[in-house]
Order: sequence, then C-alpha cells, then structure tokens
Amino acid sequence: MKKNAILVINCGSSSLKFSLINPECGEIIISGIAERLSSPSACITTKYQGDKGQQPLSPPYAHKAAISELVGILSKHQLVEQVCAIGHRVVHGGEDYSQPTLITDDVKQTIVKLSKLAPLHNPANLIGIEACQKVFSQLPQMAIFDTAFHQTMPDTAYIYGIPYSMYQKHSIRKYGFHGTSHYFVATQAAKMLNRPLSDCNIITAHLGNGCSVTAVSQGKSVDSSMGFTPLEGVMMGSRSGSIDPGIIFHLIDQLGYSADEVNKLLNKESGLLGVSGLSNDCRTLEQAMLEEKHPQAKLALDVFSYQIAKSIASLSASLNQLDGIVFTGGIGENSSYVREQVTSYLSLLNIKIDTEKNASTRFGQSGNIGQENSRPCWVIPTNEEWVIAQQSYQLLNKE
Ligand code: AMP
Repeated sequence: MKKNAILVINCGSSSLKFSLINPECGEIIISGIAERLSSPSACITTKYQGDKGQQPLSPPYAHKAAISELVGILSKHQLVEQVCAIGHRVVHGGEDYSQPTLITDDVKQTIVKLSKLAPLHNPANLIGIEACQKVFSQLPQMAIFDTAFHQTMPDTAYIYGIPYSMYQKHSIRKYGFHGTSHYFVATQAAKMLNRPLSDCNIITAHLGNGCSVTAVSQGKSVDSSMGFTPLEGVMMGSRSGSIDPGIIFHLIDQLGYSADEVNKLLNKESGLLGVSGLSNDCRTLEQAMLEEKHPQAKLALDVFSYQIAKSIASLSASLNQLDGIVFTGGIGENSSYVREQVTSYLSLLNIKIDTEKNASTRFGQSGNIGQENSRPCWVIPTNEEWVIAQQSYQLLNKE
C-alpha cells in the first residue's frame, strides 16, 4: 500500500474536521467531522466511498476521544498505513510564519504565544495538534497558517492609523485570514487564464459564514479586508464587519454595555443575522425574501452585497491591473442573487455578469459568469483541505 496520503485536521473548540487526501490529485479518501465535542451528545460522522456513518464518542467526549475514534475508523478501513503526514490548519501565525511549517516544540510555543491574537482559534488548533502527536507519534505534523499567505502585504496595507507603538509593542496590525482559500482560488483563476499565477492580478472574494476579500498581485496577497482579527471587513453571517469604532464607545458609555456584551453583539448577533433579525444563513434569507417578501431579509442581503462590492472596488487600488474577480465560499459558490447584486455595483471596473451563466453556476461548478465584453468574473469552489495536503506533502519532501 502506498504511503502518500495526508491527514488534514481542522480543529475548532467544539468540532474537529478531518480528511485523508491524496495530495497529488486532491482525491478525498475518507472525510468526516466530530461535533459537539466536550458534551455527552458528541459524535463523529464519516464519509467513505459514498457511505455515511455516525457513531457517538466515549467520555470525556473531547478532542482526544475524537482522534482515538478516528484512528479506529482508519484502521477498520485499512487506511492508517497510507498516512505519511498530518497537516493542521492553524488560524494565526502572526508575523512568525509565512510558510508551511514542521511542528516542533518551539513552533507549539509560538502558537501558544500567538493565542493572544486568536484566543478562540489557536488554543483549539493546538489541542488538535497535541492529540494527534500522542496517537500518531511517528508521523511528521505540519502547520498551515491561515494568515501566512497575507504576510506579503506591504506596510501601507497592514499598518492602522493608530500610534505606531501599538504595532511595535503589541503587534496590532492587519494580518488577513482565509489565506489558503484565497491562494487556492487565485491559483485556479490563473489556470483559467492559462498564465502563471506570478503573472496574474486578481481579487478574490471568499463569502461563507466568514467573509473576506483579497487583492492578489502577481500571485501575492497585497491587501485583504479582514484585519487584526476576522471581525474586520465586510459584514458576515453573524459578525458585523467594519463599523465606526465610535459605536463601541457609545454602547459602553451611553448604553451600559460591558466589553463582553459588545464582543458578543459584534461577533455573534450582527451581520446577516443582526440586520435580518431572522438568520445568519444566506439560503434561509433568500427563501424568506422570495417566498415571504421579508423586507429585513432582503435588506440584510443587499447591505451585505453592497459592502462586498465596495470592498472589491477599494482593493482594486492596490493593483496596477485587474485580470478578474473570483467568488468562492458557500455564498460565493451558490448564491446567484448575491453575485448579481455585488456585480451590479462594479460596472466601473468593467464587470458585468451574464444572467443565465450566473443562475446556472452553483453546487460545486466553476466557470466565468462574465459577459463576453466583461472582465472575467469566476465562480470557483474553494478547497482549503487540498492546499493543506499539498503544502504538507511539499514540506515533507523538502525535509
Ligand atoms: P461556508 O462557511 O463556506 O460553508 O458557507 C456557508 C454559507 O453558504 C451559509 O450562509 C449558507 O447559507 C450559504 N450557502 C450554502 N449553499 C447555498 C445556496 N445553495 N444558496 C445560497 N447560499 C448558500
């Protein structure tokens, strides 16, 4: 049996997603998710050769239990022997990591140090790393950072208009996120242009539950809408995106909010959910808009689309040339309504979409939905797991 598959792990605070991937062709051998971790209802769902299976996790129902169960599942299907390395998605690499990195004790310490920049994500990523190290002690483990792709941004893009000492002393700067997704779809767009990525200038819009827009110049990220945290930029499923910072002082000083309450309001109760008062889910909002003529569902989708268009237009300032734009993520790949609304504001960039192509490009299809005389406007399904597998495999072969 060939030992050339990468086990990709994406560990959150209460879930752990995994896929075993052939890094050369992107084939997913087995995939699954352990959910509701640390609660008695924790379970693991797997997809293997078209069949879905689910089983409960044993106490204490946490990440270690999920990894042990995963080993059992891989053994049952005789897949353990195929795994040559483990690639972990790690959200924050700060300024320390701009490349895929072999995980050592020093690297783990740096991930801990960077937890102050990503308190919800890095500690969970580390739990996944340590659980895998215990069980797969013989295998190399790699960290692929969400921020790494954006480390090429110039200081004009990443410095905020606040005292410079905040950057020097406290690392407060723009980092950008969703790096593997922006990199992947930019690579695919370059293939469609039949040019090397290093020759392409593209704006990529990753629109899922989290949303970010990135300008990619000659293959490198030069600016992105998310910032110091994934809260900045366009509004998202339940995150506000950028707002006047004065609102925060108003909430605290005039309306009696605590810092925790402001945090919850902006991260969990805003965005599509907050404006619609209905849901953070684009599908639900589209349905409510069409079937019930729900005015706030429409308003939420329209504010969202306008903000994305403004973000694309403003990021075009960082490019000398624009070869096309890309929509990806659950909303970008599927919502013809959002794509139509976004592009309706972009005629100055010569982006005009073909209504029929727009309506028919969804559910995992990719293609250029632009009119013939328009700049290309691609829909490209993202595949962050494959990037993690490819980069881990390349690093393994370099070591
Ligand atoms: P992601 O975080 O990339 O999984 O994206 C999740 C978002 O994609 C949610 O807001 C979903 O409602 C949205 N989405 C998924 N499928 C569709 C669809 N067919 N039409 C509109 N939105 C969709």
